[in-house]
Amino acid sequence: MDKNDHLMEAAISVFRSAAKILVFTGAGMSTESGIPDFRSPGGIWSKYDPSDFLYQKFISNETSREKYWKMSSEYYETMKNALPSSGHLAIKALEDMGRLLAVVTQNIDNLHQKAGTSLDKIIEIHGTAFSVSCLGCGKKYDRDLIEGRLRSAAIKVPACDACFGILKPDTISFGQAMPQGKVEESLRLARECDLCLVLGSSLVVYPAASIPVYAVEQGARLIIINRDETPLDGSADLVIHESVGVALPKIVESL
Ligand SMILES: [Zn+2]
Repeated sequence: MDKNDHLMEAAISVFRSAAKILVFTGAGMSTESGIPDFRSPGGIWSKYDPSDFLYQKFISNETSREKYWKMSSEYYETMKNALPSSGHLAIKALEDMGRLLAVVTQNIDNLHQKAGTSLDKIIEIHGTAFSVSCLGCGKKYDRDLIEGRLRSAAIKVPACDACFGILKPDTISFGQAMPQGKVEESLRLARECDLCLVLGSSLVVYPAASIPVYAVEQGARLIIINRDETPLDGSADLVIHESVGVALPKIVESL
């Protein structure tokens, strides 16, 4: 057996003793479904300047909103066509075994839903790209409806039907606070879980990354599966530097 085989054996044994697994997912999961990481070379931020997309700029000027919708529509099209990876499906299999407490995801791509994970077990702490809300009256829209308007008419910046207010996809932008309710729910789950499983997250984006930190403080075990090192590797019971879609199905199939 090589080092990785030993790690996998050890991981399987931790999983077998875990009844309430809190899964925390990041961009590495999305890239395995063909969605480029914002921060990687070739990702959105090598094409656009992130400072153009600050929340304050979005709400304060029309030109920023126009740039935002152009960038965002392009990215949305990729996400809409993406399919769940073997990693997403392995998480769904954990749910079917009755071991999944919840999935807290930093991703906005709807892929956990597409994999069949129950909606009430998914917490999208950075929001979702699949709906749009009015910042004035709160009216919600399906993203496809708004994208249809952007394509068919000479509209570059959509407005609310009810109040002509500013529309924005339901994702958390730079400079925008995470929704308090979702943060509280994630922390409650971090207290309740017996295993926190970090998948495809570099754990550098705060406050999201504080959720696994908190789970460990509250006594949960921690397993990290990520291609690269993370700042939390030293706090983990096990770290597997491998793609999620390769490592996780092997573990789940052995339970
Ligand atoms: Zn409105």
